Amino acid sequence: MNTVAAILDNMALRKKVLVTFDVIFDTAWRIGSGKEGETLSDLGVVLDPLGQPVLPGSSLKGRLRSTCECLAHALNMTACMLNQQATGVNCTSDVKYYHHVRESYRRSTEQGIQARLQWIERHTCDVCMLFGSPVMASRIQISDGVLQDWAEVVQIRDGVVIDRDSQTAVDGLKYDYEVVPPGSRFAVTIDLDNPSNKDLALFGAALFEWAGGNVLGGFKSRGLGRFHLDNISVRGVDLSDPQQKIRFLTHTEPKDRLSDLGNWEEYFSQRIHEVLSNS
Ligand SMILES: [Zn+2]
Repeated sequence: MNTVAAILDNMALRKKVLVTFDVIFDTAWRIGSGKEGETLSDLGVVLDPLGQPVLPGSSLKGRLRSTCECLAHALNMTACMLNQQATGVNCTSDVKYYHHVRESYRRSTEQGIQARLQWIERHTCDVCMLFGSPVMASRIQISDGVLQDWAEVVQIRDGVVIDRDSQTAVDGLKYDYEVVPPGSRFAVTIDLDNPSNKDLALFGAALFEWAGGNVLGGFKSRGLGRFHLDNISVRGVDLSDPQQKIRFLTHTEPKDRLSDLGNWEEYFSQRIHEVLSNS
């Protein structure tokens, strides 16, 4: 399917892929609250009203996007990195570039849907096709993590201010920060609406990367935030199949509405092979 057809497809739900997994932190981690912690430490972590750690979908999405940006080149795909000048990739997600071409976008919208979609195709990188841009909705939604297990305490660690020039500790300049201890586990759901083969290959490559281990959150250089994935499953529906359509429209639970697409490694390996053999 070419990109214009894929975008047209985006306007009505034709196909859905749902991926679920657990994120397990192998080390302590922190997603900063931007203020003092509950423990009166200098730098708090984000906690819900019950005092339990929160893993926001927006943090997962940001990390997933940067994983995809790193992998795009290996899949012969483009990534604007939100900087058209540095990458040479024309994409409206670069604010400056969008400002520059906005008038031509406006004119394309006056020439009908085909002209508009062709314009979008010429001005959107492969990563933004999946994650969205100012002129195109995102095809991927990521839930907040649902807490399954954790140590039920927040730890406090000491930080020391290091002088960048001498690489030594600055006398008397210390602060402390909160972390969530290792072993916490969250369930995460990712929805892909009308994904193209390219979207699935790019997302799949990122999933392989995460399954083996990656990092998330703040203070990564201090060894915080290492995680891996467990219990990965992939389900989906193709609404052009009448039986699948009926099931999808008459059930409520994802496990009833969507078919099991089998082993996730096989499913995404196939998508990656297809894209590489077509590019
Ligand atoms: Zn882009």
